[in-house]
Amino acid sequence: MSALSRALLEIDAVRSGAVITDRDVLEGYASDESEVTPRVPDALVRARTTAEVAATLRAASAHGVFVTPRASGTGRVGGAVAVQGGIVLSLEGMHEIRGIERVDLLAVVEPGVVTGQLHEAVEARGLFYPPDPNSLATCTLGGNIAAGAGGPRAFKYGVTRDHVLGLELVTGDGTILKLGKRTPKGVTGYDLTALMVGSEGTLGVVTEATLRLRSKPPEVATLLVFLADLEQIQAAIALAISSNITPRCVEMVDAIALELMRRDAGVALPEGARAMLLIELDGQGAALERDVERLGGALDDAGALEVLVAQKAGERERLWAARRELSRTLRKSANFKLSEDVVVPRSRMAELLQLCGRLAEERGIQMPTYGHAGDGNLHVNLLWDDESQRPQVDSAIRALFEAVVEMGGTLSGEHGIGALKAPYLELEQSAELIATQRRVKQVFDPKGILNPGKIFPARRGHGAC
Ligand SMILES: Cc1cc2nc3c(=O)[nH]c(=O)nc-3n(C[C@H](O)[C@H](O)[C@H](O)COP(=O)(O)OP(=O)(O)OC[C@H]3O[C@@H](n4cnc5c(N)ncnc54)[C@H](O)[C@@H]3O)c2cc1C
Repeated sequence: MSALSRALLEIDAVRSGAVITDRDVLEGYASDESEVTPRVPDALVRARTTAEVAATLRAASAHGVFVTPRASGTGRVGGAVAVQGGIVLSLEGMHEIRGIERVDLLAVVEPGVVTGQLHEAVEARGLFYPPDPNSLATCTLGGNIAAGAGGPRAFKYGVTRDHVLGLELVTGDGTILKLGKRTPKGVTGYDLTALMVGSEGTLGVVTEATLRLRSKPPEVATLLVFLADLEQIQAAIALAISSNITPRCVEMVDAIALELMRRDAGVALPEGARAMLLIELDGQGAALERDVERLGGALDDAGALEVLVAQKAGERERLWAARRELSRTLRKSANFKLSEDVVVPRSRMAELLQLCGRLAEERGIQMPTYGHAGDGNLHVNLLWDDESQRPQVDSAIRALFEAVVEMGGTLSGEHGIGALKAPYLELEQSAELIATQRRVKQVFDPKGILNPGKIFPARRGHGAC
């Protein structure tokens, strides 16, 4: 009997039906929302409890079988794909909101809760969970924690990392750990909660999270700012920051992406618009109105082509729906697409945008950009139609990453490294830092079974992790 069969027998003994080996079902777990080559896992385990997760990892660890944790599979770097085979461990079945505490301002959730569902549940009680990845209708809180997800509202409120107080975690050998706290303050021991956020399922499996909430801002206003020139974006962001008003988000869309929004979502564009900023402010009554007027006026004075205010919820939702769909809209517009989510200091945004334009022209491909401009976090897309152009695409990606690191930026702002960017990690991190992280992984996953082939570049003569 193979090691996999022995492990599956032990897992099945915990709950009959948790293990699935039906090829038709497994095929649905072969890819995520990235361009990583699909791989059908050898088996699927659908966990419903922490005890089942622990039993799965104990059995897999004892028999040396790889395990890839998976939630909704909306990840953009192949994180949930079992690139080296083995078991996919699905957390979709753990989807209970265990508690929402109004005075303590926290929510306790299972990892498979869909992010948008937590938003609805807390907002119905006048509370607010700010992290809002654009995939919020389908992605899960466990996936957000493992990927270190961000979203448009990060500009004012921060990312997922800033909202995780505590975690229940099962390590690679099946040990259950309670990390962190339920209080807003607490400095007891090492901050292992922070270590787990963004660890991409390589150190442990999150089975419960305690998340920080806020009071819900009473009103929201959206400014649509059209610019004649992409490079004006940096100046507009600097203006928004220096005006002493903190928008909750500052999103940008470049000319190519803007054209697709116009065509597919009916967004009206003024003549000559080459870029758009979507700025959202929250607050209350006259104070919010004053902020909108002040910021809108300053952007007008700074030479914006047009500044529109969308105050009705329906109007705002139509714009956001078009923005949230941009990634999929772009995918349909060319035969091949790759997308990167690099970050540079805000003060270097204009340089980054110029670089993308230059790389696209030199390599004969299209490189539309959009994203969380307020954070310097841009989704740089590479679109091409002919397979033979792939070497130019790869050389554009390498040149982009090298320039981003040189500008003091980072390869990934929110999607993580996964399988797609693992070969480039050494561009940003030293050999010593990578070796230190490998040693940390050994502590939490001594047998190296958790999510192999992710984050770290392959070592010659070794497995990828
Ligand atoms: C249209 C679109 C828009 C997007 N917009 C954004 C955005 O604005 N911001 C952003 O940050 N991302 C965005 N994403 C990327 C993606 O939605 C996020 O990375 C999200 O956090 C993934 O969640 P998921 O539930 O789908 O996780 P999966 O894709 O299933 O998994 C992601 C990673 O987490 C690990 N994992 C999953 N669950 C657990 C667990 N319980 N314990 C340990 N590890 C686990 C997996 O192994 C994998 O490495 C977008 C994706 C799409 C398709």
